Amino acid sequence: MASNSRARKGGSRYFVIYTAIIIIVAVGLFVINQQSGKNEGNKSFESAPSTVAQPVMGEAEAKVSIVEFGDYKCPSCKTWGETVWPLLKAEYVDSGLATFSYINTLFHGEESRIGALASEAVLKLYPDQFWDFHKALFDAQPTGHDGAWLTEELVLETAKALVPELDEAQLKETMAAEEASSLVNLDTTLVNQFNVRFTPTIMINDVQIENPFDLESIRAAIAQELE
Ligand code: CA
Repeated sequence: MASNSRARKGGSRYFVIYTAIIIIVAVGLFVINQQSGKNEGNKSFESAPSTVAQPVMGEAEAKVSIVEFGDYKCPSCKTWGETVWPLLKAEYVDSGLATFSYINTLFHGEESRIGALASEAVLKLYPDQFWDFHKALFDAQPTGHDGAWLTEELVLETAKALVPELDEAQLKETMAAEEASSLVNLDTTLVNQFNVRFTPTIMINDVQIENPFDLESIRAAIAQELE
C-alpha cells in the first residue's frame, strides 16, 4: 500500500517534470519560430509592381526590384528614408543587386498631390536631379506635420536650390499639365492594385513586406529573390 502510493507519487512527479519540459520546449520553439519566421506576415502578389514610367535607381538588369509606395507628406516615409533606405541602398542598389523605385501614394490630401505632381514634373524635366529632389522634399518635411507645409512655393524653392538654371514657369506648367496628372493616376492605380494601406509600403519583387522597418525581413526577402 505504502509502496504503491510512493510509486503513484513518483509517477505524478515524473508527469509534472515531463509536462514542464514539453511546455519549455514548446515555448522555446515558438520563440525561435517567431524570430526566424519573419516572412510570415509578408504578402505575395502575382507580379512585382510595374516600374514603367517610374523613377528607377540602379542597374536595370538587377534581379530584384525594391519599390516604395510613399508620400512626401508622410512622417514615417521620411523616417524610413533616413533609417532603412540608406542601408538598403548601400547593400543592394549601389552593388547592382537591386533597383529602387518610388510610387506616389496620396494618403494626405492636397499636399500629397502637390508633392506627387512636383515629383512627376521634376522626373520629366530634370531626370538627373530627380533623386536629389526626392530626398530634398523629405528633408523639407518639418517634424510634427499637422500644419500645411507642402505648398507649390516650397516645391519650387526646393527644386530651385538643386537646379540653379531651373525654369520656374516651365516647372509650374509641367505640374499643372495633364501628363503629370495621368502619371499620378497611374501611381494610384498601382496603389489600388497592390492594396497599399499604409505608407511607406515596401515591395521586394512581388512580395509586400509586412513591416517596412523590419530590415531583417527585407533582407530575407531580397536573399530569397536573389537565390
Ligand atoms: Ca510615378
